[in-house]
Amino acid sequence: MNIDFTICEQMLNAIPYSVFLSNLEGRFLYVNDVACKTRGYTRSELLQMHIFDLDVPEFSLVNKNSLEILLEKGETNFESVHTRKDKSKIPVEVHSRLITLGDQKCVISTIRDITVRKQNEARLNELQIQQQAILNNIPDMAWIKDKKHRFIAVNKALAASSGVEIGDMLGKTDLDYYPKDLAEQYVSDDLEVIRSGVNKTIVERFFDSSGTMRWIETIKTPIYDEKNKIIGTTGIARDITQRKQIEEKLVESEKNFRLMAENARDMIYRIRFIPGEEVEYVSPAVRSITGYSIEEFTNDPGLGYKIIHPEDKPVWKEMLKHKYDNIPVSFRWKRKDGKYIWVELINVPFRDKNGSVAYIEGICRDISERKHVDDALKEEEEKYRSLVQNIKIAVFRTIPGSTGKILEANKALEEMSGYSREELMNLEVVNLYASPEERETFIRELALNPEKAVITSHLKKKDGTLIDAHMVAKAVKDVNGRLLYIDGTIEDITERNLLQKQLTYLYETEKKHREELQEEARVRGMFIDILAHELRTPLTPILISTGILKDLQSDKPGVQGKLTNNVYNSAKVLSRRLEELLEIARYSRGTFRLEKRSVETGKYLKDVILRFKPALDERGQSIHVEIVEDLNPAEIDPSRLEQVIINLLSNASKFSPQNGHISFKARVQCDYLRVEISDEGIGISPEEGQRIFQPYHRIEQDRLKFPGLGLGLAVAKQIIEAHGGKIWVESELDNGSTFLFIVPLKS
Ligand code: ADP
Repeated sequence: MNIDFTICEQMLNAIPYSVFLSNLEGRFLYVNDVACKTRGYTRSELLQMHIFDLDVPEFSLVNKNSLEILLEKGETNFESVHTRKDKSKIPVEVHSRLITLGDQKCVISTIRDITVRKQNEARLNELQIQQQAILNNIPDMAWIKDKKHRFIAVNKALAASSGVEIGDMLGKTDLDYYPKDLAEQYVSDDLEVIRSGVNKTIVERFFDSSGTMRWIETIKTPIYDEKNKIIGTTGIARDITQRKQIEEKLVESEKNFRLMAENARDMIYRIRFIPGEEVEYVSPAVRSITGYSIEEFTNDPGLGYKIIHPEDKPVWKEMLKHKYDNIPVSFRWKRKDGKYIWVELINVPFRDKNGSVAYIEGICRDISERKHVDDALKEEEEKYRSLVQNIKIAVFRTIPGSTGKILEANKALEEMSGYSREELMNLEVVNLYASPEERETFIRELALNPEKAVITSHLKKKDGTLIDAHMVAKAVKDVNGRLLYIDGTIEDITERNLLQKQLTYLYETEKKHREELQEEARVRGMFIDILAHELRTPLTPILISTGILKDLQSDKPGVQGKLTNNVYNSAKVLSRRLEELLEIARYSRGTFRLEKRSVETGKYLKDVILRFKPALDERGQSIHVEIVEDLNPAEIDPSRLEQVIINLLSNASKFSPQNGHISFKARVQCDYLRVEISDEGIGISPEEGQRIFQPYHRIEQDRLKFPGLGLGLAVAKQIIEAHGGKIWVESELDNGSTFLFIVPLKS
């Protein structure tokens, strides 16, 4: 068969595809230029070949099938791989058509080189595998949807959540898997992402197949093609139930923390160091503690250091050196008002992965009061310690029991025992006793009086000498009544006992002497009494006789009269002296008695003065009397008090010059009668003033000049004191004397 192709040859050669014309047996009738060039054959070579010679063996079957389809349907499309003359391969796409040329049926095939397409397909396939691998690696549910919301890629997690295989989901939509309203919501979210072109994060609640509520966070992102056109969406959905729970707890605990921090009396703070130092939080207590506001503290991270007492700054530096390692630190802070306070800080450091302190959280407490109490306590303890150490009485603390150890001992115990402190601490307490029995006695006594046992014992010093010890001990118990230790004091009373013995001896001796003296005084008193009575017996008739003689001779002055007067006056003086002696004797023998009665004080005193007046006249002496009117009556022994007044007046007269002047004053002073007798005589020195009231005492220089026994004032003192009164003298030498006495008006 000869077919003239010249007409369309030029046209066929212009086509960029390979064109083959073959008969139904597969013999080539015509091939165009492209067919020859792309396969490396010449046209004549190709025309010698059979259509199946071009196909790689794997495709020969495909081509045979295709030929059958072609014969049946008149047209077919298929892919194959051709072999070039150099044995290299070209993937091709074949379009064959049955045509009739003249009376002959032929096949015209247009074959396209699809190398590039195949390469792209392979690449796409590879990408899809990679994409699937990536998707599967995501623990969250992940998917890719096209614009029509169909899944074009899903990962295992998503397929598993729906209980299907990955492949089953491809091409399907949410409507195929989820309840209608939920699926519609998903579709509407996708649409929003497509419309807006921006990501959308959706957090939603979701009940899983077991009915448990779970929180899901989905991020939907638009997918753009190379022309920046949105072609679909991707989605990643994460189960954030746990995170949500933690977040909720965190919010809760943050809320609680705030509440606590805001209301706490302590100052709570957080200071960040990385990237820069910043006071992140400080609680309101900052104001009450430091006087500074929250803002002042947060604006100046260095404030905490600035206000530290200069002496305490090393404490802060030490804290930094130890990187805020939780140890409490205390120092003084200067409050805004200038006052110093003690604060205690506890910091908790939080480190980053390099181990550097990223931030600290801390609490600051005002401990001024505690510090004061502590200091006061320490001071008190110190004082107590120094007191115990320096006290002269020995102080001890021992373990209970007969052979207990000594736990505490002060210096006095060291001195008393002769042992050093160390020796005492290693000593069994029983060794301090003269005998173990004495320790037993001590323990027994303490058991009977645990609060305060007082025991006298014999202790043995280090050198073996014994001392008498006065011990006071107390049993110290714990809250359950268990005996912990024994506290007590020891006093060395050896010397005191010795002194007591000496004192007893002295007392005995003195008592004996006193009794002897009393006896002597009694005997002397008795002797004086007898003597005075014996002397008075002959004196009485002398006084009476001379008194009568004096009266008989009163109108006959002369020698006889004068002599009679002398005898009479001397007898009177003698009688007075005897009376004084008798009074003293009565006093020492204890037979002295007052005979009191009520007298009209003023009149009584005036009468006494009147009776003494002649004696004053005799010496040309005057008396000035000042007696307060309306004196109350006095209960006195009138004759004895007269004896006192007469004695004082006669002394005043005796120690005053001739024509001297005497004064007598009487008044009431607080229920007492007060009498003052003053003279302008020689006066008395203060020392003598003390002694003149003693019996037989007379001032040396007066002894020779003035007569007397030195008993007058002693008797006066006896009488005044027997009345419950007092007598004394106020005088200066050469400046007169005032004798004063007071006696109660009522007994
Ligand atoms: P006498 O009876 O010896 O005077 P008193 O007891 O009355 O004894 O007095 C004791 C002494 O006190 C006197 O010796 C005298 O030295 C002194 N004395 C007493 N009264 C006065 C006085 N008014 N002025 C100076 N000395 C006085």
